[in-house]
Amino acid sequence: MADTETAPDDVPARLAAVAAQVARSARDVGRDPGSVSLVAVSKTHAAAVVAPALEAGHRAFGENRVQETKGKWLELRERFPGVELHLIGPLQSNKAREAVELFDVIETVDRPKIAEALAAEIARAGRAVKLFVEVNTGAEPQKAGVLPGDADAFLKHCRDALGLDVAGLMCIPPADEQASPHFALLAKIAAANGVPGLSMGMSSDFELGIQLGATHVRVGTAIFGARPPLR
Ligand SMILES: *Cc1c(COP(=O)(O)O)cnc(C)c1O
Repeated sequence: MADTETAPDDVPARLAAVAAQVARSARDVGRDPGSVSLVAVSKTHAAAVVAPALEAGHRAFGENRVQETKGKWLELRERFPGVELHLIGPLQSNKAREAVELFDVIETVDRPKIAEALAAEIARAGRAVKLFVEVNTGAEPQKAGVLPGDADAFLKHCRDALGLDVAGLMCIPPADEQASPHFALLAKIAAANGVPGLSMGMSSDFELGIQLGATHVRVGTAIFGARPPLR
């Protein structure tokens, strides 16, 4: 049976349960719970569903579209200072300016054109946006992300040619495979390149992500329930 959309009243309890599980998973592998950041993925959910999480004190959220984020977060940001917004969906270079204005962390840097557009906009806006490079660990043709074999060269290009500070790597494992080899591969690429952040793990596998070194987990359904169909 499909998970139904959560009533706004249920969000704080579900958020607290996920946050507790994140902390427990970290402790289970001898990690400091403070070393794992829970990004609550609020994409497609109305502001009224997201607000209770903010009222409960949560501040890190993930969205996948520039346009939707603009409409939803302008007012929420005014009401709740200190919000940290993560872009977790694909970015077109013609949206780089808006993305740099709206987001605090962009997790989907995956090709030179986007990296170049972001470098230019970050310099122009003077905003310290954190960047994560998305790696297509399963080499799926339809999926965004730099191929694992190209990651070292792409990271070098971002750093040396564009002067970008790459804060982390992100991956979305293939839906029909075990996530662990993908998380392990991402961690290996990060270690080889001295990249500190690892964004890996969603509702169904964030514990595994934490076991394998995630610094950020992106959890939507477990907090907000099933996503409403796109309108
Ligand atoms: C939607 C989404 C998530 C959240 O997925 P859930 O299974 O709802 O937790 C995480 N990461 C990315 C990139 C997403 O698009």
